Amino acid sequence: MKHRRSIELVPGHEAVQTDMETPGTLPQWYVLHARCPACQHQTQINRGTLAYGPTRDVSLAGIGRRLICTACGNRRTNELLIGKLPRD
Ligand SMILES: [Zn+2]
Repeated sequence: MKHRRSIELVPGHEAVQTDMETPGTLPQWYVLHARCPACQHQTQINRGTLAYGPTRDVSLAGIGRRLICTACGNRRTNELLIGKLPRD
């Protein structure tokens, strides 16, 4: 068990099945970020917006495929990153 202040962002989390979990079912202590491979832009995604919009019942994997980079407009192979908030 590692104790770190920083949030480790990974493409998937061993405890999260991205093809099963939706913004509505993902536990509160996870944060979502998006990263664009074309321009390296990275931004945090507002989970509240996802959980109450039309994306509410879309799997996290599905959301990853829908991401559009706000910096360069790229809509291909954007990565959805999942981070776990430190709980200490
Ligand atoms: Zn971009």
